[in-house]
Amino acid sequence: MSNPRKRREALVYHAKPTPGKIQVVPSKKYASQRDLSLAYSPGVAEPCLEIAKDVNNVYKYTTKGNLVAVISNGTAVLGLGNIGPEASKPVMEGKGLLFKIFADIDVFDIEVDTEDIEAFIQTVKNIAPTFGGINLEDIKAPEAFEIERRLKEELDIPVMHDDQHGTAIISAAALINALELAEKKIDEVSIVISGAGAAAISCSRLYQACGAKRENMVMLDSKGVIRNDREHLTPQKAEFATDKDVNTLEEAMKNADVFIGLSTADLVSPDMLLSMANNPIVFAMANPDPEIDYDLAIKTRDDIIMATGRSDHPNQVNNVLGFPFIFRGALDVRATKINEAMKMAAVSALAKLAKEPVPEQVNIAYGETKLTFGRDYIIPKPFDPRLISQVPPAVAKAAMDSGVAQEPIDDWERYENQLME
Ligand code: NAP
Ligand code: MG
Repeated sequence: MSNPRKRREALVYHAKPTPGKIQVVPSKKYASQRDLSLAYSPGVAEPCLEIAKDVNNVYKYTTKGNLVAVISNGTAVLGLGNIGPEASKPVMEGKGLLFKIFADIDVFDIEVDTEDIEAFIQTVKNIAPTFGGINLEDIKAPEAFEIERRLKEELDIPVMHDDQHGTAIISAAALINALELAEKKIDEVSIVISGAGAAAISCSRLYQACGAKRENMVMLDSKGVIRNDREHLTPQKAEFATDKDVNTLEEAMKNADVFIGLSTADLVSPDMLLSMANNPIVFAMANPDPEIDYDLAIKTRDDIIMATGRSDHPNQVNNVLGFPFIFRGALDVRATKINEAMKMAAVSALAKLAKEPVPEQVNIAYGETKLTFGRDYIIPKPFDPRLISQVPPAVAKAAMDSGVAQEPIDDWERYENQLME
């Protein structure tokens, strides 16, 4: 955002009329002395005692069940890098705003001043009693893998590192639909993945869970193709090392069916695009500037199916399609985790929704005359009101079926109506 007018607009938006983007709003009456004596001492002692007797009562008498912590240490903020905890706060507040408007989930954003894995884990564990779920955010790889793994193991509330799984879920839904349009099978396609960071690794893992074959994948990092003969690979990179005789992105792109970009701007040339197989699927998701400019790519090949991370082009892979609804479903059955089955359920629900007729209000919201399933519409739009009624139930059902739901839902119709209120 180098444009001075836009820059100023963004700063004024954050500064005025009050600094920041979220606030705490009481949810009970507080007009009389009686109200206050219930809200605080002496009335408040009663729920305290009930919770002390049975800790599960915390869900009955406090906000815990609808409260998510968005937690960062500011080490990998957007594409801005390690800018520190304070500088990450606008992003975390923004995430809070999105959780609230899309899924009515309340958020406390927590910015932690440590880059030490153990200290970070202990901090999150120590504050976990407050929350119904933990959204880890903008923490750099490889630390993020270990932090998430440990917290999932050691906490009994849902924990999700959104930069890994959010992107994986949305792009997997987009990939399934793109492959359908290209008339190709996921277990047969060759996939080039540019980037080997938090997002790329977890996308590649989820595509595998969807049926993609690891032997058909070639992954690259800043040093080139991740090959078996490379030294000092992290365990996550080694997982995707190839024994194919390819050394450059250019070589990898020849006849590839799918390109997944989670690296940095302008790495893909028109010639590389031209060397890909027919109906190439190109998800150039580096933000803010994709691995190849959208207009250039579309101009280069008219059989391309393209997605980016940007809102000014069709097919935006936007995490907001995922995290509000995944946490909504998880919280509503009081799931102890967000597991693979729940993520896959979100993938299927999103892929399916994109194939259904689009309500008029969505067309209007995006200034489109008629969004229909096809090359320019492979995933739902964030302002689609059907997301809230379709994704959380799918996630909640998967939680129940996989045995991690502590409060199963029995009346699904009532639940879906409640979601739309
Ligand atoms: P990350 O953990 O820092 O990973 C970045 C990866 O890109 C690293 O593996 C790095 O290689 C690699 N890389 C850098 N330059 C490269 C080059 N010239 N060729 C190939 N690989 C290169 O960051 P991340 O969180 O995974 O995010 C990566 C990118 O994806 C960012 O641009 C981010 O904005 C974008 N992203 C988009 C979405 C979305 O569209 N919804 C979601 C998440 C992330 P080394 O390992 O060698 O350093
Ligand atoms: Mg993020």
